[in-house]
Amino acid sequence: MSKDYYQILGVSKESTKDQIKKAFHKLAHKYHPDKKGGNEAKFKEVNEAYQVLSDERKRSEYDSYGRVFSGAGGGGAGYSDFSQAQQAGFDFGNLNDIFSQFFTGGMAGAQRAPRGRDISTELHISFEESIFGIERKILVNKMSECKICENTGGKPGTKMETCTRCNGQGQVHETKQSMLGTFSSVRICETCVGSGKVPHEKCVSCKGAGILKDQHEINVAIPAGIQNGEMIRLLGFGEAVSKGTSGDLYIKINVAPHATFKRNGLNLTMDLNIKLSDALLGTTYTIATLDGDIELPIPVGVSAHEVLRVAGKGVPKGSGQRGDLLVKINISLPKKLTNKSKELIEELKKEGV
Ligand SMILES: [Zn+2]
Ligand SMILES: [Zn+2]
Repeated sequence: MSKDYYQILGVSKESTKDQIKKAFHKLAHKYHPDKKGGNEAKFKEVNEAYQVLSDERKRSEYDSYGRVFSGAGGGGAGYSDFSQAQQAGFDFGNLNDIFSQFFTGGMAGAQRAPRGRDISTELHISFEESIFGIERKILVNKMSECKICENTGGKPGTKMETCTRCNGQGQVHETKQSMLGTFSSVRICETCVGSGKVPHEKCVSCKGAGILKDQHEINVAIPAGIQNGEMIRLLGFGEAVSKGTSGDLYIKINVAPHATFKRNGLNLTMDLNIKLSDALLGTTYTIATLDGDIELPIPVGVSAHEVLRVAGKGVPKGSGQRGDLLVKINISLPKKLTNKSKELIEELKKEGV
């Protein structure tokens, strides 16, 4: 957590938003893992630094405390935005909830509803499943709302009483001495988590916490056409927090490669080896597509590397439409010729073929 984000981006502490953005773009470009000579670890590090330094609130927290306490979910890390989502799920998630409330509540001077942490998991699916979509069940172990007390922490039917720690204010005032002088701050009361009320008798199931560790089966609808590495974000399926809203669940989708097909946007591509005589005379090949076998006409005189298009056998793009299957022709030339073949080809040569 004590990484020097300024150093990572190669900028000074005084740099402007624009300078930070420029430095990030340059480095992200340099380290992008899809590029030759890219570096995924560096790329992530640069990304992480930028997530913090580009956000005014996070940057000021980082400047003051050397770390970030604000939830990362507020940035709107969205569906298929992997790098950002990863920051939210992996790096900033492991904070003590009360601690994070303490700072966001105190520093901003406003009472924010506590938010549970974001969690992440991965799912492996086949190539076919990525093309046509699939529903999967996953098991997630996480802090969840207690169903017995419905997140209140009180024994069902018990009376709610005024919190003695904050006298029902829901917040605690305190003064702190620091090098720069005396600071007054207001923070959420940890005992009642801002509500000002505590139950007379605690819930037995969660011991008054309102939340407990629980295993959940979650149905995940993976949409047709999802790409390898894409993120699905399930709002509110992250960890629950006492008297607050749950975080989000991020699911990274890993698509297994296919032996025959590759993906290119909405199109699928494949190679097809045909015989020289078939290329010259034309014929029909039976090929296995993801939709079953089809007959592919090979036109007379097809060239090597020519691409034949099979409309509508690619990736679904919604509203019933689909991309195409592109079949790249390879002509297999015989390595050895029989005497008979040789003679016939000599004849062809005389014909000017
Ligand atoms: Zn409970
Ligand atoms: Zn209180």
